[in-house]
Amino acid sequence: MQYISTRGNYPPISALQAIVQGMVPRGGLFVPEAISHIDLTGLENLTYQELAFEVLKPFLCSPGNYSEAELKEYIQLAYNREKFDAETVTPLAFLEENLSILELWHGPTAAFKDVALQLMPYLLTGASKKLGKRNEIVILVATSGDTGKAALEGFKNVPGIRIIVFYPDKGVSRIQELQMVTTDGKNTYVTGVKGNFDDCQNMVKEIFGNSSINALLNQKGFELSSANSINWGRLVPQIVYYFWGYLEMVRKRIILSGDPVNVCVPTGNFGNILAGYYAKVMGLPINKLICASNKNRVLADFINTGIYDRRREFYRTSSPSMDILISSNLERFLYEITSHNAIKINRWYKELSRKGYFKVDDSTRQVLKNILYGGFADEEETLKEIKFVFEKYHYLIDPHTAVGMKVYRDYQRESGSNLPAFICSTASPFKFNLAVYRALTGDDSVDDEFKVLEKLKEISKQKIHRSLEGLDKLSINHNRTISVKEGFKEIKRILGI
Ligand SMILES: *Cc1c(COP(=O)(O)O)cnc(C)c1O
Repeated sequence: MQYISTRGNYPPISALQAIVQGMVPRGGLFVPEAISHIDLTGLENLTYQELAFEVLKPFLCSPGNYSEAELKEYIQLAYNREKFDAETVTPLAFLEENLSILELWHGPTAAFKDVALQLMPYLLTGASKKLGKRNEIVILVATSGDTGKAALEGFKNVPGIRIIVFYPDKGVSRIQELQMVTTDGKNTYVTGVKGNFDDCQNMVKEIFGNSSINALLNQKGFELSSANSINWGRLVPQIVYYFWGYLEMVRKRIILSGDPVNVCVPTGNFGNILAGYYAKVMGLPINKLICASNKNRVLADFINTGIYDRRREFYRTSSPSMDILISSNLERFLYEITSHNAIKINRWYKELSRKGYFKVDDSTRQVLKNILYGGFADEEETLKEIKFVFEKYHYLIDPHTAVGMKVYRDYQRESGSNLPAFICSTASPFKFNLAVYRALTGDDSVDDEFKVLEKLKEISKQKIHRSLEGLDKLSINHNRTISVKEGFKEIKRILGI
């Protein structure tokens, strides 16, 4: 399998190269040149690990890419009981006849990004070794909270890698901060930045784009890389759990293999839902992909009007991992649904950067509307949904999942469709517990997240996610703070150059 650029500005390259490079140098994202079809017959008898191998093989294994033995080894290292507290990695919880929840948060950091970030380090170091690269890889991450910890857990103690995470000082929740600064591992570095998430992100982007910095690092034996979902190695592991969710429904006899289902995904950067789209193209019978936004509804508006317009106010919400106005992976989706029309992609993305918006043509819009339904939930609706779901099903959901649940119900009402469905649950309710507790009790006098953990445990009779239990008693291993101007200086200090 070769990988090509969404902007038609790069020669086809191997999976190994696409994963090592991350992004196309002059703009654009790598996508597979073609998508293989998978026969569903008998897949319901496979374990998660066996299924992962079958789904990932066509994207990654071929002469000159990863060998099948290597891929199998990586999968065993990534998806096991030490890393995930569920035998089936991403279990399906049944709420009622036609509605289930795919729990994607059983990994080491209680959010769905673990599923990809546990496998990606093996793909990246494997590719680097196979391509004969000698430089040590330095993963730079700017995080608004979830990605940082998931990347730290994925990359810690992986030979040949150092990982440096920058987060907005005072801009993440106490749980998120403690998760990061208590990380152990010989190759992990976490630094607070005096600024907001955009400042962190810009700082990191400038370092990535600065050729003299990169030249200096290369000369000293280092190479920068990213753990962001623009990297194909971060996206491809996510395709697996759409198949898994579907096959769980087959095993539970909710559907027969081959029956259509609806799938709803709480969305920010469009990475997760894009993986669902690739599963559909591979032959998974997904009827509609329901794209759920929070109050930052740029995607919902795009799906409903054909106009992507980022010139709007940015809101901080109780589902912070979806507070995004530029959904990077949408570019891949548009490239796919225009049958690889790089000319259109170049035009739209030039417009987005020059004018702040673009409008797709009617035929593209029609294709898009056939695949996606877009909706959103505001803050009040999100909190109401948490309470509603708990009272109705005695099942606790986090605010991101609640956005999905609300939009799914809107879809059901508007379309009249009552096909069996699953909703991707992207975080454990204990991770975003203040919002969950307030939604359930109306009590906003408590703001100690660790007290609330205990209270939520009592109310829900569910176990606190193991990565959060006792977190406030771990030792702090990272305590540095810098200004936005000191990013490169900090990297040099860390690398000792
Ligand atoms: C990252 C994240 C999302 C958004 O996923 P995208 O792939 O960026 O669309 C949703 N929920 C949670 C909890 C997340 O961490």
